[in-house]
Amino acid sequence: MRAVLDHIGIAVQDIEAALAFYRDALGLEIALPEEVASHRVRARFVPVGEAKLELLEATSPDSAIAAFVNKRGPGLHHVTLRVEDIHAVLAHLKSRGARLIDESPRRGAEGALVAFIHPATAHGVLVEIKQAAVDAREAPVRRFPLGELELISVCDGFFRLDGGAMFGVVPKALWERKAPADDRNRIALAMRPLIVRGRRTMIIDAGVGDKENAKFNEIYAMDRRRHLDHALADAGLGVDDIDIVLATHLHFDHAGGFTVRDAAGRLRPRFPRAQYIVRRGEWHDATHPNDRNRASYLADNFVPLAEAGVLQLVDDDQTIMPGVRVQRTGGHTMHHQMVIIESGGQVAVFVAELIPTVAHLPDPWIMGYDLFPLDTLAAKSTFVKEAIAQRMLIFFEHDPAMAAGYIESEDGKRRVIPA
Ligand SMILES: [Zn+2]
Ligand SMILES: [Zn+2]
Repeated sequence: MRAVLDHIGIAVQDIEAALAFYRDALGLEIALPEEVASHRVRARFVPVGEAKLELLEATSPDSAIAAFVNKRGPGLHHVTLRVEDIHAVLAHLKSRGARLIDESPRRGAEGALVAFIHPATAHGVLVEIKQAAVDAREAPVRRFPLGELELISVCDGFFRLDGGAMFGVVPKALWERKAPADDRNRIALAMRPLIVRGRRTMIIDAGVGDKENAKFNEIYAMDRRRHLDHALADAGLGVDDIDIVLATHLHFDHAGGFTVRDAAGRLRPRFPRAQYIVRRGEWHDATHPNDRNRASYLADNFVPLAEAGVLQLVDDDQTIMPGVRVQRTGGHTMHHQMVIIESGGQVAVFVAELIPTVAHLPDPWIMGYDLFPLDTLAAKSTFVKEAIAQRMLIFFEHDPAMAAGYIESEDGKRRVIPA
């Protein structure tokens, strides 16, 4: 295990009084205040080099900080070590007989996962183990050469969906270790379209876009401080550079970015020069929604494409541009398709909802959203074997942390090696 000193917690009677020393007398910079309701404390971080001091004041008499200050007076409270995988560390400590205050991690300040180890085990010091939150602002544009082609992973931001719905029949006790839930049971997901550059430039899916209202953004915890326009600019591209827009399917988190509302309030295609390619069956289903899928198909995202005459429907698995072909997977929707990209003897696959995140790698880890889960099961089981055998580069459209990687299998257990 590798651990770095994250911070040292100091219990104080009164944060403002403590700031008179740390900020005013010592002249240190102080970070913004943060309240951690679950721990009933108010915290201020004081950066000191790589690590921080954390000033902690109780917000309720039943908080652990209040009990500590009452018993021993203010002073050093805990030492926090930051690790990569808190679940693995806790499991290891448990196997060594360590006395844990938290058997499983809980939410701490700055969205991190934390757990405390009893001072009886740690030689008189209260030790906190911490796994930092995925930094939502960090969504770098990543380039992957593939033979004659260049693949560029871009990001339209992050959002949250119900963890139970994301993992179908898998119990929360299992999925929560891979995808921690917030206080509304939602897990973090990214929206990562893929750009393919050859003689022509294609974008596969385009994220959620910005046409929805505040209520929608709140339900899905939309975080688009960095979105597709920023990513295109970082990649040295603009909307005019895109020749082809290819849809895996027409759900709002994939097709929302296909259209924009102009200054006059009219809907028009986001990529003015592009031909938009959609599978005919998916187009039919999206334009004839039922009560089960209606909330996912928002007509403003795709109907304007037909009106503008830029829509091209394809019927079968076929080549869209040299090296790029679509293959129906079904499962998630009847006509959901993945995109296979081949050049110079290498193969990359944009699997979309067939394996939305790395956590969905085991065959039965299938979204509750999928309309035909047994079709997903069959398609995924076949595909993953091929992906391992042919060492395909896999793009995970919704994974909050990993854009692409190679699937490996050891003793029947699958894992992904980041690309
Ligand atoms: Zn979908
Ligand atoms: Zn999706």
